Amino acid sequence: MTKQELNRIFDNGKYAWPGGYEILLIMDDGKTVCFDCAVDNRNQIEEALTAGYRDGWKPAGWMLAEEMDLSPGEAVLCAHCNRVITQAEEEEEVCC
Ligand SMILES: [Zn+2]
Repeated sequence: MTKQELNRIFDNGKYAWPGGYEILLIMDDGKTVCFDCAVDNRNQIEEALTAGYRDGWKPAGWMLAEEMDLSPGEAVLCAHCNRVITQAEEEEEVCC
């Protein structure tokens, strides 16, 4: 991810348009951080990106919460605030 991309994400806001899906950051250690935490820690994230720190704040990319590839029942938590950003529905029991 480049600095320009990061700025664009912050400029565009929490929800992607169209669709209204929540944006989340994928950090270079594979963890996910919700948009609110990204805004709260914007300076740290920008610094990690610019300086190439591997302190867990360097963003590798971004995704829409709804586009995460999840197994049934699996949840995506924010690595910072532990909020459930998105959760896949449990698999329906196949009966009869
Ligand atoms: Zn968070």
